[in-house]
Amino acid sequence: MLVTRHLRRTCRLDRRNRALERDVRHLEAVEGLAGIGRWCIEWPDRRHLWSQEMCQIAGVPTDVAPNDELLAHLMPDGMVQLEVTLAAHAPDREPYAAEFELLLPDGEARILRARARNVFSPEGELERVLMVVRDVTEDYAMVQQVEEEKARALRLAEEARREANTDALTGLASRRAIMAALDRALLDAARSGKPLSMVMFDIDHFKEVNDQNGHASGDKVLVRVAQIALRHARDGDLVGRIGGEEFLWLLSDCDDREALDAAERLRWAVEAGTHSQPIPDVTISAGHATHEVGEGALSLFARADAALYGAKRAGRNLVARAA
Ligand code: GH3
Ligand code: MG
Ligand code: MG
Repeated sequence: MLVTRHLRRTCRLDRRNRALERDVRHLEAVEGLAGIGRWCIEWPDRRHLWSQEMCQIAGVPTDVAPNDELLAHLMPDGMVQLEVTLAAHAPDREPYAAEFELLLPDGEARILRARARNVFSPEGELERVLMVVRDVTEDYAMVQQVEEEKARALRLAEEARREANTDALTGLASRRAIMAALDRALLDAARSGKPLSMVMFDIDHFKEVNDQNGHASGDKVLVRVAQIALRHARDGDLVGRIGGEEFLWLLSDCDDREALDAAERLRWAVEAGTHSQPIPDVTISAGHATHEVGEGALSLFARADAALYGAKRAGRNLVARAA
């Protein structure tokens, strides 16, 4: 009677054990699919238990026990980094996160992210820490790749912006850049009440320069004239190339009289500066205009342009004041 009861109980326990083993196998299979390892630390004696997937993540055989010696090998600093984190969370009743590094037996470094939960005894002592662990190295690599691509795109955009704002031959501001600068300068002038002037200048008979010396020499002249103009510009001024051999010089905090002097100095410097150079002699004609209260960019520009053509009509190598 007693023996029969004992046998039945044993059978029941066997069945339950087999069912439990099956459940554990299923759990291990699902964890394997999800790439989630289980790491349990019996806290008082620091005994470690790893699931199959945890062994897989750590690159060790699934029957290896994670003892102190193995952990010392796998963790770059022993267990210090992880222990410090876990100890800081020892009183926590809510789940928390921890991240740490693992050095695989083949020397590859991996970053692991754990969700951890503390289990306490009825007396409130920390008994064990349960962790589910994921290898997030690729996530980090992807974030880094996205960051790098973003930085590259920003760099390219900045380069494209700089290119659009710079005249490739002379390095001066492009037409687009100087027109935008003119709008800003008008706003600044309105705000500060300081005078704003512009000098528009154009190389005289430049077509002949090209025809007689070749286009390449013509390019050298353009570069030389740009250099001379830049030397004459003060801080806060801007010189741009607005056409083939036509330039615009914005002079901030500069009145009509100073603009005339500046234009005359430049006219003379071009005449002298291209003379005796191994490039053809050229002169420029210039028109200068000073901003009038309430005037828009187009009107100021048109007045300087008209003055420039006045200088051309008057014989070239001249400076003319805008009406
Ligand atoms: P003006 O005194 O009336 O200004 O006469 P010009 O010959 O200078 O003026 P025109 O408008 O008749 O000719 C301008 C010339 O500038 C024609 C064109 O081939 C030349 N040019 C425009 N852009 C460039 C350039 O980038 N390089 C060179 N070398 N020549 C250019
Ligand atoms: Mg010209
Ligand atoms: Mg021209």
